[in-house]
Amino acid sequence: MALGDNWYTEIYPQDGAAFSLKLTDKIHEEQTPFQTIAIFETEGFGTLMTIDGLVMLTDRDNFIYHEMMAHTGLFTHANPQDVVIIGGGDCGTLREVLKHASVRHACQVDIDERVTRLAEQYFPELCDSNDDKRATLMFDDGIRYMADAKPGSVDIVIVDSTDPVGPAEGLFTEKFYRNCHRALRDGGIIVQQSESPLFHLKLIRAMRDAMQAAGFVDLATVNFPQCSYPSGWWSATMAGKNIKLNNFRNDAARKRPFATRYYSDGVHGAALNLPPFMITALG
Ligand code: SAM
Repeated sequence: MALGDNWYTEIYPQDGAAFSLKLTDKIHEEQTPFQTIAIFETEGFGTLMTIDGLVMLTDRDNFIYHEMMAHTGLFTHANPQDVVIIGGGDCGTLREVLKHASVRHACQVDIDERVTRLAEQYFPELCDSNDDKRATLMFDDGIRYMADAKPGSVDIVIVDSTDPVGPAEGLFTEKFYRNCHRALRDGGIIVQQSESPLFHLKLIRAMRDAMQAAGFVDLATVNFPQCSYPSGWWSATMAGKNIKLNNFRNDAARKRPFATRYYSDGVHGAALNLPPFMITALG
């Protein structure tokens, strides 16, 4: 990350590319036991949170990511009641999950409490469901949480983590997926942010291979725009425990009784349709 005059720039060295946001103010920075978190005000994207110099979210485009991370899995599962979110400390995914009336408990497990406390201060609209009686906010390592989770206790696991380095690295392994598979009920789904289709296709393939090795039979990667993430094009990969992921609850998605700004039944269907180069690479 380079901070030239009043620009925040995230550099993607392996792709010889970068992304910049014009800053109006740097509001906060702190080193937690896990990572460095910074908050900025920008000219065109509202408030910006970075972790270890990488964009986590901006006011302007986080809705796309949070809606796609939550509603694709929840409208695919037959009747999602118990949801675990690993990571997601900004609480945007939690807010979307709690829009589903079928959800009776959503447990968010982020390793770093400071992410949530800073989100409460600088992204309060993302945290406006945190007091929902169905929500539990835990601050622990998601790897350990899923290793200890009771078999058959969860319907959906959403992994809204940082990139597969540092504390998040273990969230992209066969061992972690095996623990998710054991914790999920039949018909359960894991939904994991799976980086950029353009920059990280090998990683997506490796994730899918590890999910399959862990016992998940059906896999589906959805793709969507995300301006402030590397390449501006992002993905989430779903793995199902005895459920067909391409047959989502289209009617329920179309009649959804809550507002979304990006997600819809049509967007969900389109997001499942991958371009030929991805189909070839992902087998
Ligand atoms: N949307 C962002 C992205 O795609 O990079 C992720 C946002 S969210 C802020 C990422 C969260 O993952 C952070 O709050 C971080 O603390 C959390 N995290 C990283 N490793 C973790 C682990 N092992 N267990 C639980 N949370 C973890």
